Amino acid sequence: MKINSPLEAYKYLPQTNCGECGEPTCMAFASKLIDRSGKTTDCPPLIKEKKFAKKLAELDKLLAPEIREVAIGVGDRVAKIGGDDVLYRHKLTFFNKTKMFFDVTDTMEESALVERVKKITDYKKFYVGRNLLLDGVAIRAASNDPAKFASAVKKVIENTELPVILCSFNPAVLKAGLEVAKDKNPLLYAANKDNWKEVGELALEYKVPVVVSAFNDLDALKSLAKTFADAGIKDIVLDPGTYPSGKGLKDTFTNFLKIRRAGIMGDTEIAYPVMAMPLTAWMSGISDPVSASYWETVLASVFTIRYGDVMLLHSMDPYATMPEVHLAETIYTDPRSPVAVDSKMYKVGTPDENSPVLFTTNFALTYYTVESDLASNGINCWLLAVNTDGIGVEAAVAGGQLTADKVKDAFEKSGFDLKKDVTHNTVITPGLAARLQGDLEDKLGSKVLVGPMDSGRLPGFMEKNWPPKK
Ligand code: SF4
Repeated sequence: MKINSPLEAYKYLPQTNCGECGEPTCMAFASKLIDRSGKTTDCPPLIKEKKFAKKLAELDKLLAPEIREVAIGVGDRVAKIGGDDVLYRHKLTFFNKTKMFFDVTDTMEESALVERVKKITDYKKFYVGRNLLLDGVAIRAASNDPAKFASAVKKVIENTELPVILCSFNPAVLKAGLEVAKDKNPLLYAANKDNWKEVGELALEYKVPVVVSAFNDLDALKSLAKTFADAGIKDIVLDPGTYPSGKGLKDTFTNFLKIRRAGIMGDTEIAYPVMAMPLTAWMSGISDPVSASYWETVLASVFTIRYGDVMLLHSMDPYATMPEVHLAETIYTDPRSPVAVDSKMYKVGTPDENSPVLFTTNFALTYYTVESDLASNGINCWLLAVNTDGIGVEAAVAGGQLTADKVKDAFEKSGFDLKKDVTHNTVITPGLAARLQGDLEDKLGSKVLVGPMDSGRLPGFMEKNWPPKK
């Protein structure tokens, strides 16, 4: 049984409203537990006082996600996978975005290996106010030689802080890699029907997460996972095989659905994160690399949506990585909260005391559209993002989230003074908020110009209306 309402979680809390968790009441803290922005360890009385020990244990159990959360790596770039509670994100949200690991092999020239590791590490794609990154390096033992593999693993971890996956079905090769990377909490790939005993022992000895693998055989996969769990291995990832085309692809898709459905419905023996391998596109007989990249991206898209938690990929061409990282970001954005930027005063270009002052809402798509229309036309200005709970201008005006009082409040909180920080005491409102003009002039004591309905017309508007007439 799981709990999913603050009222249910509240029953297990001390109910003293002491405020030590930073929340004014235990009920407010209970809400944070349910939306996973807080942890039971944030409530000191619950953790320290012996009389609450039983309730704490029960609460932790009731709050645990249906699908086990597994961590790969250490430090700031640790990759957490799994941790989901639902099959469809409109029911709650999906947690822990699909993690993308790009491959290197231990047969690569050292300089090429280092260059590729740096490329994976440095990858960055700016998207609505954040940088989308790649998540890790999968080191494949193409040589099947323990010494060669260990040397490649050493080179990789010397050149990146990203988590790594050690890939081989040969336990001796995996052990050699583990000896080098044992402090990095690598994921072991993989245990199968032939090597499970030795690989299981390695996972236990080095206390690292491990993939169990059975291609297109869910009974064998479940049996391996159960054997490992019974042996005390908790951090398990499932690999049901990723067939790149034909009936195999159809089976793969069905297997992913079956695994996740069973896990969410309470079958704890298979409630683990799932690994997808879009790089099998390169083994499907497609000889043209551009077409192989394309097909790899198609597979990555399918298994980002249904239900790949971690992926092994090969192509780093922009036309492959760009849709992959964008799709994962979109699928794993909480649909209940619009993407928002911080509510504050932003500088566009290099504004000074004569530069125009504009405002818009903090809905990320609105903010970045306006910012980009201004910046790309060389308009140096001040741009205030007003907190409308991430709602766009037109809807926020209609719904009361964007009012003259809210704009005034945003100016005050930003510390920007229209009467002191600029010489013109003028602010430009979005055209879609024209009806606020009179109210704004009263509240701000400033001149308010009504800007265009569409920020794309700001350059023309500025030409005609800036500087403002006295
Ligand atoms: S620290 Fe614990 S007891 Fe105190 S208010 Fe927060 S939840 Fe309640």
